[in-house]
Amino acid sequence: MQGSAPRGGEGRLDLHTHTCFSDGLLTPEALIDLAVSRGLAAIAITDHDTLDGIAAGAAAAEGRITFVPGIELSTVNDGVELHLLGYHVDSADERFRSELTGFRAQRLGRISRMVERLNEMGAQVSTEDVLAQAGPGVVGRPHLAAALVRGGYAESMDDAFRRFIGRSGSAFIPRPAPTTEDAIALVRRCGGVPVLAHPGSSVSDATVERLAEAGLGGVEVWHPHHAAPAVRRYRMLASRLGLIETGGSDFHGPGRSAELGTSRVPARVLKDLARAAGR
Ligand code: AMP
Ligand code: ZN
Ligand code: FE
Ligand code: FE
Repeated sequence: MQGSAPRGGEGRLDLHTHTCFSDGLLTPEALIDLAVSRGLAAIAITDHDTLDGIAAGAAAAEGRITFVPGIELSTVNDGVELHLLGYHVDSADERFRSELTGFRAQRLGRISRMVERLNEMGAQVSTEDVLAQAGPGVVGRPHLAAALVRGGYAESMDDAFRRFIGRSGSAFIPRPAPTTEDAIALVRRCGGVPVLAHPGSSVSDATVERLAEAGLGGVEVWHPHHAAPAVRRYRMLASRLGLIETGGSDFHGPGRSAELGTSRVPARVLKDLARAAGR
């Protein structure tokens, strides 16, 4: 584990957060400062398809808060998008890094194809406009939506999704993504613990069983989208399948959806993850 725990791993944890290197608002340094000021005992950075925030996060956390390097991979399972968290991934692993570079290239290619469709429909946005919205972050549809709003082609992000780039929008193109099983293998190969992110109500027990057989190590139990019945269901499932229970706020920045540290995650989860990663 990188960083050290001033409180011996006791106290509140947040194991699901995003920085400006994907679609979060804060830099890794600002995120760590906020976590320390909130009195958290540990934090994981889990940006979408990138490890670019890990080094700065680990450095800022040193001696102040326990830091867990993580990632959130977009995957597809039977045509449905599932997110896979990876904890204690080796952020220096060249093979892993090059796979991630490939995923980000696929994201960009897909956005460019949606831009082409929009151009054909008369919305003159460019891939450069979208990249300007993304800044250092991993490019995605929210940045395209922002470019559409900026160009005056949509009234709001919501309007952009509804009319153009949401699942039923006229310029929507699905994003190519690895299968959940391939992503599990990828996380395992670089020493990480693969954890099914916020499965919500759309994932069947049979699916989780199959993923567990494929090497899944845990399931995200505590998440803002999980009401009490979902928490109970995934706790039971985790116990039956021998999966680690994890949780976090899925923090994307102050004032955006859930605030940092608002999911109740037991302190022992830190040790469970470290043990599973062989740390
Ligand atoms: P992408 O990974 O490029 O397909 O973008 C997916 C992201 O778009 C999700 O993580 C959401 O943050 C955002 N998103 C999806 N649907 C909507 C919507 N209807 N309104 C606003 N944001 C959305
Ligand atoms: Zn996100
Ligand atoms: Fe997610
Ligand atoms: Fe997330």
